[in-house]
Amino acid sequence: MSTAQMHGPPLGRRCKTANSGALSEAKLTGQLHGAFCASPRLKLDDPTSLAHIRMMKNLPVIACSGTVLIVAVFAAVWSVRDTDALSPSTFAKETSQKESDMSAGTTPPYRSSVVGTDFDFITADDPSAFDRLDFLGFQKFEMPDKRGTGRPLVQNAYVFDAYFKDGTKIKIAVDQEFGSKEAAEQDASRYGAPLGKLPPLYRNIIRHITVNFGGSDTTAFAEDKGHFFTIYSGNASKRIDTHDLEETFFHEGTHASIQAAYLESPDWKSAVSRDGSYITKYASSSEQEDFAESALFAYTIIHHPDRIPDGDREKIKDMIPNRIEFFRRVFSGELKLQTGSTDGA
Ligand SMILES: [Zn+2]
Repeated sequence: MSTAQMHGPPLGRRCKTANSGALSEAKLTGQLHGAFCASPRLKLDDPTSLAHIRMMKNLPVIACSGTVLIVAVFAAVWSVRDTDALSPSTFAKETSQKESDMSAGTTPPYRSSVVGTDFDFITADDPSAFDRLDFLGFQKFEMPDKRGTGRPLVQNAYVFDAYFKDGTKIKIAVDQEFGSKEAAEQDASRYGAPLGKLPPLYRNIIRHITVNFGGSDTTAFAEDKGHFFTIYSGNASKRIDTHDLEETFFHEGTHASIQAAYLESPDWKSAVSRDGSYITKYASSSEQEDFAESALFAYTIIHHPDRIPDGDREKIKDMIPNRIEFFRRVFSGELKLQTGSTDGA
């Protein structure tokens, strides 16, 4: 999904779908980006699973408080962005579309940035700005879970504030299934370091991450305008073993931070157009994945070029030079955030 807004006062309206037997009614308690139910933002808590939310993408119309609205609004704003987990059909469709749009391009040299390369873009030894965790309490939090478990979106979680030495702060909400504050804190402590290795710009924008228990084969996903991402503790363990957790955080952190401000910008679109190629197959699956995949390659080329073998480095610089320059300008502060586009608050 790309725009769930997880804060703000509930609307308390009831919206009825017009033609779905499976999904007859949804209670709107928040707001949806894009003028839905007289409000720019939406959150759903009844029915409450992310699977439910995604089902709504397929409905042609929704009658909301007596008003029929085109669900294209939904389709445009709700889409889960995973690290490497598009469904085969979606992937094929989006890839086909992209390839036809960019017929002059070259075949992507890598499958994906995080698990499709042997590079260690960000290392365990890299300095981290992480300082400490403070426990805020066992409290209600929106805990999206794409596994379709049927559990409510809003549930009790162990919530911590992660503080960083540059003055930034990110909430970490940990699944109640960990069973105790101590177990939750032990897990949350694994995520402070990788969060502290993100560009400071990212930490200024990301509001929180949520951690679901288990899910060793369930990949992380991010929400761009809500500025958060969700990870699975089992999958995080695997990524730690393969030295990929930092890269996963960077990928999801890109979606959750700067993407909303820049994805539609002329600077980014121009860079994509001038490059004419995608650096990974996953990048070719959607504009959002292109943005996040390219950001990690660019960041490494800019800050740690020695971590990429010479031949690969030259190939990357040759394929996406304009995207690299775009991200250089973003990371350096030369290209400012677009006014009003990160107002998710
Ligand atoms: Zn992604």
